[in-house]
Amino acid sequence: MEQREESIFPIEEALEMILVFDHAGKISYANAAARQKLGYDNDLCKRHISDVFPNAFRAVEKGFETDCTFGNELQNLVAYRKNLTCFPVEARLVQDAADFGMYICMANDILEKEFLSREIDRIKQEAKQAMKVKSEFVANVTHELRTPVNGVLGNIRELLERGTDEETEKSLRLVERCCNDMNKIINNILDFSKLEAGKFTLEPRRFHFRNMLDYVRANHINRITEKGLGFFMTVSPQIPEYVIGDELRIVQILNNLLSNAQKFTSWGKITLEAVRTAQVNDRMELFFIVSDTGIGIDKGDRDKLFQSFSQVDASISRKYGGTGLGLNICKQLAELMGGQIEVESEKNKGSTFSFSIWVGACEDGETAWQQDDGKGVSSAMGAMLHTTGENGENPENIRKYGTPENRENLKKNLSKLILSVEMENWEKAEMFMETVRQLTEEAPREVKRAALKLKMAIQKENYEKVTAEFEELNNFLQSEGEVSHGL
Ligand code: ADP
Repeated sequence: MEQREESIFPIEEALEMILVFDHAGKISYANAAARQKLGYDNDLCKRHISDVFPNAFRAVEKGFETDCTFGNELQNLVAYRKNLTCFPVEARLVQDAADFGMYICMANDILEKEFLSREIDRIKQEAKQAMKVKSEFVANVTHELRTPVNGVLGNIRELLERGTDEETEKSLRLVERCCNDMNKIINNILDFSKLEAGKFTLEPRRFHFRNMLDYVRANHINRITEKGLGFFMTVSPQIPEYVIGDELRIVQILNNLLSNAQKFTSWGKITLEAVRTAQVNDRMELFFIVSDTGIGIDKGDRDKLFQSFSQVDASISRKYGGTGLGLNICKQLAELMGGQIEVESEKNKGSTFSFSIWVGACEDGETAWQQDDGKGVSSAMGAMLHTTGENGENPENIRKYGTPENRENLKKNLSKLILSVEMENWEKAEMFMETVRQLTEEAPREVKRAALKLKMAIQKENYEKVTAEFEELNNFLQSEGEVSHGL
């Protein structure tokens, strides 16, 4: 015994319980952890292994019987202390390879682990219950708030319909606007609590894509033009007339981004752009970009933007109002629709929010369509052909990405574009960019994204970024064996 204890001394201080027993089931060695946890002094040796694990081992005449397996497998057993109380263990039983009559049991007390896992379950349950109570509370409160706000709104509209003097009408319009803002906040809180509780469900249905954008435009155009800002909206001709998605929620994201763009911009323009960036079977990825020339956002503040209740700083919330929920809701909605939202911004130069979503495709054909504020509707493809088809090339081939005509036109337009950038003629660069974008409509996703990024950089009139994005687009095009340009 002396000999054995010396040779296994390093395991004496092991944290797990270690018991050595023989073919008769008699324990010949127990380390300090085993003695301490099982409540023995030195009297654990000579005990039978079935005293410690009565449910797993039975003492029989020839030694012991057990259903446990010997090997590497971890087994859950119940260990009994000297005072006959018990606790669960995770044990491994092995047969000593050098001495087939010896067995080793290595066991870890998992009482704490089990207790902790039960505690975690309990806390999770409590949190779930608290979340349920919270969302019910929020639903009730918002409903209670909505009723009086709508009551006030109804009465104001009635008063306005009856007709009043100019001064009173102005005040009533102000109250009406406040009520509408209040309703927006109530809706945001309700959506936020539903999203947090995982109770938010999308309601996809077939809708007319361009009508949806028209509606969004109509929601904002007055406020935007009232501020003297320009508004430009472009829709890729590759987006079919009808798509399947949750129209209301797409509108909600766009409304939020456009409201912010309008809120934080005092001069310049706001642009909205929608393109198709990928198609897999009957699903397609749409990419939206809302860009402004407003106050911009500091680099350090950009990460906080999509967190709930986050506003860049207190002075901004005092000046511009808002709950700081809008972008968090946009992020969660875009993610629910299989996409993501991103921001690029530069202080005092403007911000560009872009998000992607996946929608169902409808076989309705494609319609070219582009709209500038005050300039009416024009055909995007027509604009492209006007710029690119002057030499009598087949317009279809120009449009088809990868054809020699398309390559030639891309090359021409990219050269003109970069020349315009060098000459700081941003307006012209934007014009060539629009053509490049259309010429890459059918290009692979990464080319399209690179083209969009270049477009954003041009809109920002940021020379460094334009050259970097131009390089990236060029690399993509070159790696595909397409056009080659040097800056
Ligand atoms: P809110 O509902 O209060 O507008 P958001 O989540 O929509 O909250 O926006 C959070 C903050 O992000 C805003 O308070 C503002 O500081 C910043 N922000 C959002 N959009 C823009 C933008 N286009 N330009 C500058 N800052 C912006």
